[in-house]
Amino acid sequence: MRIGGIDWQALQRTQRQWSSLQLEQNLHRLKLAAPIAPPVNLLHIWMFWGRPAQSANEALWVQGIIFAHAAMLLFFALLALATWWLNRHPHLVRLRRACITVGILGTLGFAALISSIDQLVTSNITPLLVGCTLVALVFLHRPLSALLLFSTTLGLFIWAIGQTQSDPALLLSNRVNGLSICAIAMALAWSQWHHFVQTHTQQQRLEAQQQLLEQQNARLSYLAEHDPLSGLLNRRAFGEIVAHELLRAERNQQPMCLLMLDLDHFKQINDQHGHPLGDRVIRQTATLLASQVRASDSLARIGGEEFVLLLPECDLQQGLQIAELLRQSVEQQLRQFEGQELALTVSIGLVAVPVGQACSYERLYAASDRALYQAKHNGRNRVVGALLD
Ligand code: GH3
Ligand code: MG
Ligand code: MG
Repeated sequence: MRIGGIDWQALQRTQRQWSSLQLEQNLHRLKLAAPIAPPVNLLHIWMFWGRPAQSANEALWVQGIIFAHAAMLLFFALLALATWWLNRHPHLVRLRRACITVGILGTLGFAALISSIDQLVTSNITPLLVGCTLVALVFLHRPLSALLLFSTTLGLFIWAIGQTQSDPALLLSNRVNGLSICAIAMALAWSQWHHFVQTHTQQQRLEAQQQLLEQQNARLSYLAEHDPLSGLLNRRAFGEIVAHELLRAERNQQPMCLLMLDLDHFKQINDQHGHPLGDRVIRQTATLLASQVRASDSLARIGGEEFVLLLPECDLQQGLQIAELLRQSVEQQLRQFEGQELALTVSIGLVAVPVGQACSYERLYAASDRALYQAKHNGRNRVVGALLD
């Protein structure tokens, strides 16, 4: 459906594709990142454990840091397990999305919390910087979600730091720094998303071009091998098949037959009924002949109303039977066509290659042409067949 020059359905399809790609990539990245956190938390706990405190504030800080890292350890260990399990269950799309959201919110929440706890002894807010940068770089966010995410983080940070930083100047400075960090993280997330969209748009364009090229190649090779009017093989493709089959027949000690078929007095049909009807008769004859032969036989249109048929593993006797069947089919089924009395008939020249005899396509072609000439000469609407001499 096109509204205002935009194909909304195509746009929705693309959005859905991006959504599922985004989900796949985020889950993959979470699977790699989540297990890194617990050892880092353990290291922090080990470093702070039993640390003598010089003041009540410092004691509170140590406790807070140990508590926060213990909680993070548990959180990321569970998250790593959940991601590992969800990776094996691709159909649980909602749960996968929820897992990623929990991972992102958890990381930002802990970053804001630790930065606030740090205010008890120091004024720096490095954990917030690290958390926001990691979340912006590791995960893919749509622009609007990035805006929501980092503004919520900023709001939480502004509130949390107010609980632990009592110096008004430091509080203001850190709140402004927090604002800069969240703005930078947002810009990073947007640039990541832009890159992702561009890469995939190009990839989709390339895939579409590749598909078109393959279709055109298939069409070209079809056109190179087929006659456009009847859809049968053309002279070139038929020549290649016969050359191949001749070698095979000689190696396998098998007979084979070549039939040349020419519609009788076809010029009169064109003259009486017009060329367009003549074309449709040729097409109908092709369909009729094709319906009578085996899948292993090769049928081609090599001229105006001339056809050739190759019958592998077929001796003179069988060839003559098939040729007679084809002659009768044309006589019976094309007597009338589109309400017109055509009384169309066909003459057939046949040549059988005896078992084990080496022969070229040109020789076989010339021999079947002679047999066809004989059939025409003998009065048309007949089959003339002979062994290749
Ligand atoms: P016969 O073979 O019995 O000797 O007579 P004929 O009239 O069929 O033989 P000829 O080879 O002299 O004429 C063949 C005619 O086929 C000439 C031409 O008008 C017609 N023809 C050739 N190609 C096409 C084609 O693609 N479409 C149509 N409608 N006619 C074609
Ligand atoms: Mg002819
Ligand atoms: Mg003819």
